[in-house]
Amino acid sequence: VSFGYEDVAPEEKTRRVGAVFSNVASRYDLMNDAMSGGLHRLWKDRFVRRVKPQAGETILDMAGGTGDIAFRLAKSGAAVTVADINPEMLAVGVERAAERGIDNLVWTEANAEKLQFPDRFFDGYTIAFGIRNVTDIPAALREAHRVLKRGGRFFCLEFSTTVWPGFAQVYDAYSHHLVPKLGKLLADDEDSYRYLIESIRRFPDMPSFERMIGEAGFIRTRAEPVLGGLVAIHSGWKI
Ligand code: SAM
Repeated sequence: VSFGYEDVAPEEKTRRVGAVFSNVASRYDLMNDAMSGGLHRLWKDRFVRRVKPQAGETILDMAGGTGDIAFRLAKSGAAVTVADINPEMLAVGVERAAERGIDNLVWTEANAEKLQFPDRFFDGYTIAFGIRNVTDIPAALREAHRVLKRGGRFFCLEFSTTVWPGFAQVYDAYSHHLVPKLGKLLADDEDSYRYLIESIRRFPDMPSFERMIGEAGFIRTRAEPVLGGLVAIHSGWKI
């Protein structure tokens, strides 16, 4: 499997992704604002509007990190479980929740590839900017399908391939030159941000990723570009 520009063993990728997020956890939220010019907030708002959580539903926010998606989902009154493989990211999330007085979330360590939850447990599964960091993506999609109830919905927010002419070049220049520099400047960690950019570049395009979701068993799959496809929302249903 690939880690940035390198080919590495699967366990090694998982270990290195762990190191990336342990390293950036304390500055993760600041970096998101700096690198997206605050846009990630709008993408996340839009994503959660698309998910339309309802009071009484159970939702698993996978790779939930420091809680950005879960905080938004929980406003609806849904019962939200935040799961992430990285305890440092979760710890920052727990602290942020306490600061905001949000006390109805469940935080748990989990690997998206092998979940501890029973079959048909959740009404919804969300994963935002998480799936491209997972080593075995088909395994994670199968697990998402397994833990959803019949009628349950899968939603994924992820960077994608922009379809606007000209924009790709501007974005490439920005991401390959500026992002690692910002990483160095703000987090003293150029390598982590180089990995993040390379992982975006290597992620499957919208039709390919939509096909993978279908292969995991979901039906009525959709891929919706946001901002010309710089970011995309993928979704599917379990029946
Ligand atoms: N969803 C949050 C957000 O939108 O701000 C966090 C996204 S962050 C870019 C990616 C997260 O994926 C990290 O917290 C990382 O620990 C997590 N992650 C990576 N591989 C994972 C895996 N196999 N299982 C669960 N979480 C994973």
